[in-house]
Amino acid sequence: MAAVPSHDTKPEKIVRSAAHRLGLRFRLRRPKLPGTPDLIFPKWRVVIFVHGCFWHRHPGCRRASMPKTNPGYWAEKFSRNVVRDREAAERLGGLGWKVVTIWECECRDLNAAAQKLCEIFGIDGTNSSD
Ligand SMILES: [Zn+2]
Repeated sequence: MAAVPSHDTKPEKIVRSAAHRLGLRFRLRRPKLPGTPDLIFPKWRVVIFVHGCFWHRHPGCRRASMPKTNPGYWAEKFSRNVVRDREAAERLGGLGWKVVTIWECECRDLNAAAQKLCEIFGIDGTNSSD
């Protein structure tokens, strides 16, 4: 079977659905914000990046393994991503945004993503209807 990278259960989509379900109002990518965060919550002044563990190097995550072939190439590619992420976070912080990263392994399904969002926003998701 050929490698098909995208399907319907993309982490970003799951986080968006979870936010909807919790009634959190957000906006999607704004190119003028550093790093173009995936979800923007203007009311809370919070931005969320939904990051793939592999590409963005989730610390200590088993999904962030180093490919065995061409390690030099990957190391450079990865460190570029990590540096870019950090710079974006610093610039956003300087603009008064709280920057949160949700890792792909933390939002395998709607419930997991919703729980994560509840933690971030300090809300209780257990009593939400539907
Ligand atoms: Zn991870």
